Amino acid sequence: MVTDDLPRVTIAHLPTPIEPLPHLTAQLGGPELWVKRDDQTGLATGGNKTRKLEFLVADALAHSADTLVTCGAAQSNHARQTAAAAAKFGLDRVLVLGGDASSEAQGNLLLDRLLDAQIVWTGDRLPQERMSSVAHQLTEDGRHPYVIPYGGSNSIGVSGYVAAMGELMTQGEKQGRAFDHIVLATSSGGTQAGLVVGAHVFGYHGHILGISVDPRAADLRRKLADLATSASVHLSLDPVFESDDFDVNDNYLGGGYGVVGSLERETIRTVARAEGLILDPVYTGRAFGGLLHLIRDGAFDADEKVLFWHTGGTSGLFGHADQL
Ligand SMILES: *Cc1c(COP(=O)(O)O)cnc(C)c1O
Repeated sequence: MVTDDLPRVTIAHLPTPIEPLPHLTAQLGGPELWVKRDDQTGLATGGNKTRKLEFLVADALAHSADTLVTCGAAQSNHARQTAAAAAKFGLDRVLVLGGDASSEAQGNLLLDRLLDAQIVWTGDRLPQERMSSVAHQLTEDGRHPYVIPYGGSNSIGVSGYVAAMGELMTQGEKQGRAFDHIVLATSSGGTQAGLVVGAHVFGYHGHILGISVDPRAADLRRKLADLATSASVHLSLDPVFESDDFDVNDNYLGGGYGVVGSLERETIRTVARAEGLILDPVYTGRAFGGLLHLIRDGAFDADEKVLFWHTGGTSGLFGHADQL
């Protein structure tokens, strides 16, 4: 595999299972719905950031880092998985989180505290700026911080989802199944960029659709092209990606990032009742809601196979309980 030459630690439980969603498929009259369980990657309740962290932590260790620093929202799944990965590898962890100290210690934030992460609240400052100053201060104090960008989305983190596409193709060959569409929640872009680079590497010829939970499609598609191109360089591959190589739907942004609306509430209930599958309120609830809407709109043929890539976020449910 192209990712075999890159430094990587083992964290995730792989391969993650692929399961059918027969009741929803029947209720909708097709397409055939399946789910890839990256909510079950195994790190402190799992999620998609774990695959990225296998490469990011390896790079941090190669740089003799002693502290992982990252940023995100108060209920960031990425921050929680980063804190857990740091603990697992004996590294300190500093999380720069949006908001202020009054945020209730529930969901991911509760786990961050149990994982003994140092939490720095951004207040009204920009997370990226605050993160740089935190890293600078750590260096002044004689520490060796390793800064992981928002969502773990850089050329190193993206490798996790290039490898994931290889994993899917191997599972597909063994099970004699090919998916016409892959649908996922997209935000900082590393997951979708990795899958698209992986599709190029491993010869996946289906359609990959990112349903945005936050950025506008035009902005995100530019970022995806940059991420995919830099990841290709990192993997010593040739291709240069353009915005047109990415399909992003931004019709389901509702009230904005992390604002739980009726789409997310209804979708979480529908999927839980029909399949016993739990989605999260910020990412997968919104993206699956978009998928159901597109299906009812006739965007897929009844005999097509659609794989929803479940990217995790389950702990976030408990941080939004009052809105559910
Ligand atoms: C971070 C996250 C995403 C988005 O992944 P990106 O690589 O940032 O686009 C989707 N779902 C969940 C649950 C996440 O935590």
